[in-house]
Amino acid sequence: MRDENHGHHHGHHHADMLSVEEAFDRIISAFEPLEAEEKPILESLGQVLAADVYSPLDIPPAANSAMDGYALRHQDLKGAASGNPVTLKVIGLVAAGQLPTKRVEPGTTIRIMTGAPVPEGCDTVVPFEETDEVDRKAQGRGMDEVGVLVAQPEGKHIRPAGEDVKKGELVLEKGATLRPSEVGVLASLGLERVRVIRRPTVAILATGDELLTPGQKAQPGRIYDSNSYSLSASVLRYGGIPRLLGIARDNLEDMHRKLEEGLTADLLLTSAGVSKGDYDMVKDVLAERGEVNFWSVRMRPAKPLAWGMLRAPGNRQVPHLGLPGNPVSAMVAFEEFARPAILKMLGKTRLAKPTIEAELQGPIVNFDGRRVFARVHVTKSNGAYYANPTGPQGSNILTSMARANGLAICPEDEPKMDKGQMVRVKMLDWNEEVGV
Ligand code: AMP
Ligand code: MG
Repeated sequence: MRDENHGHHHGHHHADMLSVEEAFDRIISAFEPLEAEEKPILESLGQVLAADVYSPLDIPPAANSAMDGYALRHQDLKGAASGNPVTLKVIGLVAAGQLPTKRVEPGTTIRIMTGAPVPEGCDTVVPFEETDEVDRKAQGRGMDEVGVLVAQPEGKHIRPAGEDVKKGELVLEKGATLRPSEVGVLASLGLERVRVIRRPTVAILATGDELLTPGQKAQPGRIYDSNSYSLSASVLRYGGIPRLLGIARDNLEDMHRKLEEGLTADLLLTSAGVSKGDYDMVKDVLAERGEVNFWSVRMRPAKPLAWGMLRAPGNRQVPHLGLPGNPVSAMVAFEEFARPAILKMLGKTRLAKPTIEAELQGPIVNFDGRRVFARVHVTKSNGAYYANPTGPQGSNILTSMARANGLAICPEDEPKMDKGQMVRVKMLDWNEEVGV
């Protein structure tokens, strides 16, 4: 009995099975964060900082104006009001990118644009809307003077030097994931390159005589290889670099040859050939390269799993994760075991997907005491989450994975969960429907 979807086996040989946690612990402990690399900031998105970043400068570098207006001395504005303008002599103009050449003396002002460094002698900026500038222009009066219509406290509309970041300050901490805002902060410090933990390469090998590559003509008895693609896309999504090795046919030579190309990767994923009755060949191939364990993990889907370290050139060892062949099983096993390994190699410390509590909208049946990961579509309504099973739960039904945004978890010891019951859902995707 090799299909993990049919629960005809009543003897529950749980003694031979690994719990999801045991399998996870054994796998994850084989991985460490990879070494650092230096790269252009724009190519570092999603990667983890390998060193603290201190600011080499003040941001902004000099006090500058927050408004288009007039730089002046606040003492000059005593008593200014709309009916009582204070008239100042306009002695110059300074735009963003320019340096002021004149000093603001009592009774004078300098026209200033947003972002321009404030001239010496001034302590305040008055926006042009709070002067008679517009009226003056309209009336064709000279612009060598301006009337200020308000009094202002000292410092108003001036952004002091170092307001955002002070020179020498710790700006970004080692271990932080670079998002667009961090990339922007690095640019604001004038940095072109950054040290980050490098991305792992993940080699992906499909196995099976029945498999066709998308683009090939359909043939009787053959199916398209979807695992290479769902797995590569998953690797990309979580920050790894996928390397497709193609399809190995079910014979020793081909397996050996194709596997060879995966040995320089940081992780080798294979799919299929790990269910009982099938794995003799895979076992032979892997045994020549190292140690391999065939596990039954107490979960549905994705019970069969192979795990081992393979000898690779240069005295290296390559972790190998043999995922089940059924398309949903392959993806769920990736989610539980490969995704966290990739995140750990990337230097991330939060390896778990977010989970929520949702009200189940249809039953989950658990007939042989495994942890069931049921494909559900979660929606949010009036602040509450609802988990709708996405249809047939066979591990070959990939479209039900495509309809799902989460995996509802039915514990090992629950034979059934009913509609209306609260269930924990591991969210694969947050989107507008769940309001996050
Ligand atoms: P196996 O472990 O080789 O017995 O495969 C289990 C099931 O998964 C079979 O129905 C295979 O046809 C299917 N399968 C194996 N590899 C792939 C793949 N790369 N893409 C889609 N289905 C696959
Ligand atoms: Mg096969």
